[in-house]
Amino acid sequence: MGIARIERLEPGLYFVGTPIGSARDITLRALDVLASADALAAEDTRSMRRLLEIHGVALGDRPLLAYHDHNGAKMRPRLLGLLEQGCSVAYASEAGMPLIADPGFDLGRAAAEAGHRVTCAPGPSAADTALALSGLPTDRFLFAGFLPATAARRKAALRDLAEIAATLVIYESPRRLAASLRDAAAVLGGSRPAAVCRELTKKFEEIRRGTLEELAAAYEAGQVKGEVVVVIGRGEAAPPDAAELEEAVVRGLETLSVKDTAEAVSRSLGIPKREAYQMALKLDRERER
Ligand code: SAM
Repeated sequence: MGIARIERLEPGLYFVGTPIGSARDITLRALDVLASADALAAEDTRSMRRLLEIHGVALGDRPLLAYHDHNGAKMRPRLLGLLEQGCSVAYASEAGMPLIADPGFDLGRAAAEAGHRVTCAPGPSAADTALALSGLPTDRFLFAGFLPATAARRKAALRDLAEIAATLVIYESPRRLAASLRDAAAVLGGSRPAAVCRELTKKFEEIRRGTLEELAAAYEAGQVKGEVVVVIGRGEAAPPDAAELEEAVVRGLETLSVKDTAEAVSRSLGIPKREAYQMALKLDRERER
């Protein structure tokens, strides 16, 4: 099962996911697309050349064009022109998935608006890799990208995230890691569980888990090297007050049995089933009197 040079790759824009560290974390389909597209575009053409070289993909006489934040407006018409001519164009950012804290959004939107096929050969991303390794709940998460660099704006951004009932995934520069953890502990509460995921898929991969307070203290002194994702567990929702619980149970009993009401209320309010059951039983008896 080697790389397949596809005789005629269907015309369109192909976003291609590339490794976030370990070069072998590229999919066979991504390599097929890179080997077969009529033109390649990359955020960093040097990284792309290296990747092609590692995997033995010949560029040949196909164009390899730079497309990044600083030349996007100028380069987009050229790439759209290639699509217009019926070409297949593969685009990769420097690492991981394009568009995830990386360029590609405007290009994808413009290509779709012009009626071209936009598709993807997906690959790894530091966000979901960190989430998987964090030891924190994965059923609901929010990717918050990079936090602002200045303390005041960073704290404001954290305040916006504070009430969100989801695991938070944040990209951070190693230089700002200590300050960000300190601010997160202050704004979100020091007891929140979190994980610092560093150098994922690379030789010195490291996952440190602890509360925000513990992690802030651990990274306070000393230089941090490499690339970092911070994952933060959701805040504990305040327990529902008695009136809220009663209202939910009364609503449940209108259509459900005591047992089903208890289950539904326990799920929706996040309280123990026994507590919801006792309230449902009490209100059901009162109704029958
Ligand atoms: N598009 C990429 C993706 O899908 O993950 C992200 C690009 S963004 C410009 C770079 C940031 O991603 C880094 O500052 C870091 O927060 C995170 N990152 C990328 N690779 C990483 C790795 N191997 N380990 C930890 N974090 C990584």
